Amino acid sequence: MLKRTAWQVYRWLADLLMPPCCLHCGRLGSWLCADCALELPLFTGPLCARCGRAWKGSALCPVCRETPLQTNPIRAVFLFDGPLRDVIHALKYRGGAEVVETLAPRMREAWVFHGMTGEVLIPVPLHAGREAKRGYNQAALLAASLGREIGLPADEGALQRVRDTASQTKLNRQERRANVSQAFMVGTGRNFHGKHVVLVDDVATTGATLEACALTLLQGGAKSVSAFTLARAS
Ligand SMILES: [Zn+2]
Ligand SMILES: [Zn+2]
Repeated sequence: MLKRTAWQVYRWLADLLMPPCCLHCGRLGSWLCADCALELPLFTGPLCARCGRAWKGSALCPVCRETPLQTNPIRAVFLFDGPLRDVIHALKYRGGAEVVETLAPRMREAWVFHGMTGEVLIPVPLHAGREAKRGYNQAALLAASLGREIGLPADEGALQRVRDTASQTKLNRQERRANVSQAFMVGTGRNFHGKHVVLVDDVATTGATLEACALTLLQGGAKSVSAFTLARAS
């Protein structure tokens, strides 16, 4: 509680001293203005048909040919590059939740472009402690906004994180995968039996976190799990 209050005071002071301004054109008021949101190029490929990473060769990238993820497909609105990188940083660490609404029409555009389908949007959960500190889960905001745009329900409590796996930058690929497996559980009272579900997150990197969520949902009876993220890091 004390931690949360201290964070909010810090955010308030930070906004007072450095008010949000568009990270692309500098206009005051938001970390991304509506005009610049329209200018960000969608990531339309070439990409791997399955995991969605930038890939120029045949349909599947080498990673998917060797060990394909169960999350299929993974698609992203933008590449994790240029001003969007800073916008996502602002969304996660500078209280920039408002950028989600600004980006919602672009999310819908990419959703349609990639021919995504599904019955329910499920945000990747943050660890409760992290969410309390930040005041929101950015993935839940993205799922809710996208859901309103495309007319699908977003279920924030669908998955719960039982272990904090966020600090894993020093781990290698295999260690990361082990670290995130069994990190999630299906929320109480939820039943996704036979459902086509779509995971939503801010950035897809190795896909390990999405995969851990997908495996939890597939074990819970989901028929298929795909993923849609704001950005793709390759
Ligand atoms: Zn701007
Ligand atoms: Zn791939």
